[in-house]
Amino acid sequence: MVQSLDRSQGRAGTAVTDATAAPKTFTGNRALQIEEPLIFEMGQAGRCGVDLPEPPKVKDRLNGLRRGGEIGLPGLSEPQVVQHYTRLSQKNYAIDMGVYPLGSCTMKHNPRINEKVARLAGIGDLHPLQPISTVQGALELIDTLAHWLKTLTGMPAVAMSPAAGAHGEMCGMMAIAAALDARGERAQRKIVLAPESAHGTNPATAAALGFTVKAIPANERGRVDLAALKAALGPEVAAIMLTNPNTCGLFESEIVEIAKAVHEAGAYFYCDGANFNAIAGRVRPGDLGVDCMHINLHKTFSTPHGGGGPGAGPVVLSAALAPFAPYPWIVKNGDAWTVAEEGTAVAGTPFGRLKAFHGQMGMFSRALAYIMSHGADGLKQASEDAVLSANYVMAALKDVMTPAFDGPCMHEALFDDSFLKDTGVSTLDFAKAMIDEGYHPMTMYFPLVVHGAMLIEPTESQAKEDLDQFIGALRSLTERARSGTAVEDFKAAPRFSPRRRLDETLAARKPILRWRPSNNPPGTDPLRQAAE
Ligand SMILES: *Cc1c(COP(=O)(O)O)cnc(C)c1O
Repeated sequence: MVQSLDRSQGRAGTAVTDATAAPKTFTGNRALQIEEPLIFEMGQAGRCGVDLPEPPKVKDRLNGLRRGGEIGLPGLSEPQVVQHYTRLSQKNYAIDMGVYPLGSCTMKHNPRINEKVARLAGIGDLHPLQPISTVQGALELIDTLAHWLKTLTGMPAVAMSPAAGAHGEMCGMMAIAAALDARGERAQRKIVLAPESAHGTNPATAAALGFTVKAIPANERGRVDLAALKAALGPEVAAIMLTNPNTCGLFESEIVEIAKAVHEAGAYFYCDGANFNAIAGRVRPGDLGVDCMHINLHKTFSTPHGGGGPGAGPVVLSAALAPFAPYPWIVKNGDAWTVAEEGTAVAGTPFGRLKAFHGQMGMFSRALAYIMSHGADGLKQASEDAVLSANYVMAALKDVMTPAFDGPCMHEALFDDSFLKDTGVSTLDFAKAMIDEGYHPMTMYFPLVVHGAMLIEPTESQAKEDLDQFIGALRSLTERARSGTAVEDFKAAPRFSPRRRLDETLAARKPILRWRPSNNPPGTDPLRQAAE
């Protein structure tokens, strides 16, 4: 629980007194949405859900380290535990429940065949320390996925181990640093260029590796300002990190020019491939002059994700960067697959190792199942349908909401908050009101270059009638916001959710990361003492 809840004061720390509030109930429950305490606040100490035999008497070998107080486990029966976790699971909004329009995250449907494949005993029960002779099929699976990633991107090599997009950025930028080192230019080239609209992980990655980040402004079309980019290039620039399609949901139409200018200046082109799902099967980044690009398997090739994981971020590399790909390398020797670990001679000079083992096997098997079940034509159609859906949403809303940029978009529709000007309703209020309408809000206030941004990514996997209802709800909300009579309603939203507006700033500044029993003040808590 990273939220700051004040239970003594009612539900969410905000006493709801306004006239628009939903009625209070005796239980705190709302219809069949049951108010859920923490498991430690339930039951009675000493109660146990299972009938355990008395432990045999054994000699104490803990040398005085034996726990003194109560262990403090929740005392619950089995049905109470089952009900608690089932109720918790139902509080989690999920892609399998309805429209999930978060932009920049690509919450798309995950075909069930992926799950079936990932759970096959030969995949799900693997252990990364098994002898190589017993995991030949798994290595072939990784290599087959690598083949398709290289084919789809038009790149000669891929590093499979990075565990997420941000980790892939780290991998690609370390390969660039190693290549600069090999050229004797690492010390001289210290600057990484990144557009103002970049995802926060881009400048963070560059800074973490000791580069200095220089922002490149966008032009009025929401694309990189080519003249400004050219002016920023020089012998101190190591690389540009550019997302395409970019975080405004737009294709960088001058990308070939950009790549050319970057290369002429002796720098590398890192492409953030998080939005590859908009172009897979249509465009090969390798043809655009990209030197390396991470692919968020969990955004482009399905895999349930959110809340920080799981993910996988393989990085495709150009011929210039391929020799520096990190260990382990998966190599075929005659008929046998082998794993070249750190220290083993390979056809290059790997910059090191990024993580334990070989990468995210569960994601690999899901991504390969997704790619193979779609086929080349299916992948192309998925990209096209994602772009079509976003443009459908954009076209259906642009007379009542304000698109941030003119013209068609790629896979996500970006609006600014000028349509809410002088209504007293903010982007945040608007998003909270969407919850009452049964929709998870879109991405808000990102990208930062757009005022009060609302970024909607419907993906290819929503049916037209579901998009129509979503559009209808947003149109209705804009009407209500503009009518000037519903400001209070917006400020009170969400009204139908078990929690309303949490104090997110307080929760971030003073997170309560651990529950402590109220009758166990600090210093007397046996668990805490054990941990300290
Ligand atoms: C999601 C995303 C990332 C980071 O990817 P993770 O897998 O979440 O680490 C980087 N850049 C962009 C544009 C993204 O959308």
